[in-house]
Amino acid sequence: MRVTLLGTGDTTGTPTVGCDCDTCEAARERGVERTRFSVHVENERTGEALLVDFSPDFRYQFLRESVPLPDAAIITHIHFDHLDGLGNVFRVLDALDVYAANETDPQTGESVAETVANDYDYLDPITVVPTTPLESVRICGFDVTLVPVDHPPLICYGLAIEDPETGAKLSLSGDTSYAVPDRSREVLAEPDLLLADAIVPAALCDAHPIGGRHENDDGVPRTFGTKHMTREGALALADELNATRTRLVHLAHFYPEAEAFEEPLALDGETYTL
Ligand SMILES: [Zn+2]
Ligand SMILES: [Zn+2]
Ligand SMILES: [Zn+2]
Repeated sequence: MRVTLLGTGDTTGTPTVGCDCDTCEAARERGVERTRFSVHVENERTGEALLVDFSPDFRYQFLRESVPLPDAAIITHIHFDHLDGLGNVFRVLDALDVYAANETDPQTGESVAETVANDYDYLDPITVVPTTPLESVRICGFDVTLVPVDHPPLICYGLAIEDPETGAKLSLSGDTSYAVPDRSREVLAEPDLLLADAIVPAALCDAHPIGGRHENDDGVPRTFGTKHMTREGALALADELNATRTRLVHLAHFYPEAEAFEEPLALDGETYTL
């Protein structure tokens, strides 16, 4: 299993358009970036490629990393930064199965699968495959399981992707607070590589209108607002899942410059072979 981090940023990315903060300036000087979220997973045994989420930066990411176009894809939730790149497949791919959860979201009255199918009904190459969470499905030779996470007000899913031949396992937290349900944690546990949402350091919760939540014993919030984990929350989750290796993703330019390029914060273009 070969994993390429196509996009490791939050919804504005780093550098952010029009921003001259120290972190965005430092990223420009270093020639590094965090575009909107997407992960490319190749199965070296079958020669197939699976894409997790359609970043608005899809075209640029595939040109930059020279990875093969996907044979199948998964959409974790319907936020702009994970879905709105789907239109890029028009006249690029002849056919693409797009897997998405089949549970109805009370917020929208539709499942992720239904929203994708409705929003992109003009897009002939795609076939949306409604998928039952917490049930493994074989995609590109991998066993893939969508797991419910906590990203109010929308439903959202994390993922476990396992190679049944080699035992390699990649887990993704998805966009989530620290309140990942126990059943989902069981599916995500013991990964060779965990990609965990860590939008900002916990210290920045003071700047959020509703602060942080899910404090640890020292009072450090593991959730920023309601939707995302803090760095400290993501690292706690990694510890609890007993991840062999962890990269923090979905990172905002609000990280102070001195912390923004430290380990284990990911940058675009990182690759891992599991
Ligand atoms: Zn900035
Ligand atoms: Zn989101
Ligand atoms: Zn997001």
